[in-house]
Amino acid sequence: MKLHTKIALGLVLGALVGGLGNAFFGGAPWLDWVSTNVAYPVGQVFLRLLFMTVVPIVFTSIALGVAGIGDIGTLGRLGGRTMMFFAFSTLIAATIGLTLVNTVRPGGGLPEETRDALMTQFASDDLVVGGPSDFGVSTFVEIVPRNPVFAAADTDMLALIFFSLIFGVALMMIPKEKAQPVLDVLDGIGEAIIKIIDMAMALAPYGVFGLIFVITSQFGWSILGQLSMYVIVVLLGLLLHAAFGVSALVRIFGRMNPVRFWKSIEAPIITAFSTSSSMATLPTSISTAEKELDVQPKIAGFVLPLGATMNMNGTALFEGVTVLFVAQVFGVGLGIGSQVLVIVLAVVTAIGAAGVPGGSLPLMMLVMATVGVPPEGIAIILGVDRILDMARTTLNVSGDLAASVYVDRIDRELEGATAMTPGVTATSTVGD
Ligand code: ASP
Repeated sequence: MKLHTKIALGLVLGALVGGLGNAFFGGAPWLDWVSTNVAYPVGQVFLRLLFMTVVPIVFTSIALGVAGIGDIGTLGRLGGRTMMFFAFSTLIAATIGLTLVNTVRPGGGLPEETRDALMTQFASDDLVVGGPSDFGVSTFVEIVPRNPVFAAADTDMLALIFFSLIFGVALMMIPKEKAQPVLDVLDGIGEAIIKIIDMAMALAPYGVFGLIFVITSQFGWSILGQLSMYVIVVLLGLLLHAAFGVSALVRIFGRMNPVRFWKSIEAPIITAFSTSSSMATLPTSISTAEKELDVQPKIAGFVLPLGATMNMNGTALFEGVTVLFVAQVFGVGLGIGSQVLVIVLAVVTAIGAAGVPGGSLPLMMLVMATVGVPPEGIAIILGVDRILDMARTTLNVSGDLAASVYVDRIDRELEGATAMTPGVTATSTVGD
């Protein structure tokens, strides 16, 4: 049996067994015991094995990717296009979300008692107590780390990415005989990390079973009923963006058949769905991009770590829907100006959100506060967020892979053009 099939089986079985456990024995002490002492540790060990590789893989793949691009001009062109693609696809996603939520108005019909009950049930969550995190000028200043080792230790991804980018650029600028040994070492580290990921993925079927079991065994389906219209709008939006938005981007910008694209990325889709973390999925995305989508390693290494942190289509869509939903529930009218602001902020905060489970929630509270929607209102949706997080992370990761296909095509074209220009020799690519 192929590993993907086994992982998918782990996912389905975990959901089934957990769901049945909840339906028949919900709240029973032994079920909690199994969840806490068996399923949870198995799931966490798998997740941690993946997380363990994130810092070294981000550093080595970005440094090698940048150095492999070969010259600053090409790097600038590819980097610019990568950012444009991220921004454009995220904007489309947020717009789809906002259009849907305005059309369906899922928050219009939520009874006041349901709202209050949900608020009291989930309001004690740390998140609500913690309140919105800061987002302002300092957010941008702090992208430049004072100390790259601290940045890595804190998994401060934007800062780590910044250092890795600069490091790669510097390797490109120093004499080749000095750079080459460093590149060889990085290459070796990268290979070893990929090996670790392969080993971790062998545990994936069990890890995924555990992760899903913990959610489904504790999580009653009734809350889904109470919030059904909201959940449907989010899921429908994600589905629409995947089917039309991402597929069109892959076709138009990546010049790839979307059917081939979706078929090739099964492994990262399953990993994203079961881990709810773009970061934990990064290793799988990189290997899938290289092996299944024929993306050059230097491009996968450059685009995907950036995407895992900055490109979150699903998150932007979810934020747009949720802010408007909570506004509808509380009867806060948002005019067209405020709604445009919600879209812009959803795109910006999706860039700032960490690629970990629930990473976008604190920033979304900030968007709410900015447009005058009570941020505590997030408590209403916390009970269903686990499910929505799984779905939006899947779209986040698919968007990153679409970006890698596009940038890879551009790079090949640029290289072709360079090779054909007389007098210009194609720069050698290091690291692949
Ligand atoms: N879990 C999401 C991700 O990792 C982030 C979020 O929207 O909370 O991509």
